[in-house]
Amino acid sequence: MDVVGRFAPSPSGRMHLGNLLSALLAWLDVRSSHGLLILRIEDLDPDRCSREKAAQLMDDLRWLGLDWDEGGLEPDYCQSQRSRYYEAAFRKLEDMGLVYPCYCTRAERLAASAPHSGEGEPVYSGKCAALRPEERAELERQGRRPAWRVRVPDEILSVTDGHFGLYAQNLKRDCGDFILRRSDGVWAYQLAVVVDDALMGVNHVVRGRDLLPSAPRQSWLCRTLGYAPPQYFHLPLLVDGEGRRLSKRDMDLDMGALRQRYTPGELTGLLAWYAGLLPEPKSVEPGDLVSGFAWAKVPKNDIPAVCP
Ligand code: GLU
Ligand code: ZN
Repeated sequence: MDVVGRFAPSPSGRMHLGNLLSALLAWLDVRSSHGLLILRIEDLDPDRCSREKAAQLMDDLRWLGLDWDEGGLEPDYCQSQRSRYYEAAFRKLEDMGLVYPCYCTRAERLAASAPHSGEGEPVYSGKCAALRPEERAELERQGRRPAWRVRVPDEILSVTDGHFGLYAQNLKRDCGDFILRRSDGVWAYQLAVVVDDALMGVNHVVRGRDLLPSAPRQSWLCRTLGYAPPQYFHLPLLVDGEGRRLSKRDMDLDMGALRQRYTPGELTGLLAWYAGLLPEPKSVEPGDLVSGFAWAKVPKNDIPAVCP
């Protein structure tokens, strides 16, 4: 089967080195196997994301020399325009009796964005699954609007990551019933990503290791909806001097600053060096790296983001 990969950034700010590493490796994974690369705009959260930021992101990718075969700002590749697909999947899960309303408020805010380290919601107790119909009716009468959760099985689910190998979780214990839709109607990242990868025919998912803990639930959701899960490839994280994951808050390493500091070739070379594809940083084009690309060369430990 031909490889169909994707890069799925959230246009909630300028990309940083970690996003760029994911983008470059998703690109190399596809280009080294003559597959198809999709750029999907994960703009579910209207408060954080915008079209302007998405346009900036595409400009930044092009500047670096990365292209894609489908996607970008066309409506069918922007999650904010794909509600009908999430709705259909949600109904399907509802028909299976797997969905219930949750009136708790904590951490719901984050459901539309991917749970990068330290930002994820805590394991949910399942409290609202036990509400009786009259208790629900009372909460509704008070004007409380619920989020919607999916009931996960008390089972060990595993994925075999293409880079990190076997990764298992007991879904009930380690993940908990997770949010599909926020109380304000915004669809959650976990549902949208699964539906989109399935409908777009994506079979290779390349992204940072901070999303590895989301892989078992996504793979389970995918199968529950009747689709074949993709092959996951998670990447080691880039960390700062103190070993902390780089985030969008590290403004000095965002694409605005990086474009001032490096040429596209130098930045590509730096990323390739981090990824184990060059013995030292030097100026290269993404195309120069295709023939030498192999997952076996990519390190597994966190990578200190040294910027020469
Ligand atoms: N949109 C997510 C992010 O930018 C990535 C989702 C994924 O690759 O599964 O953090
Ligand atoms: Zn609840």
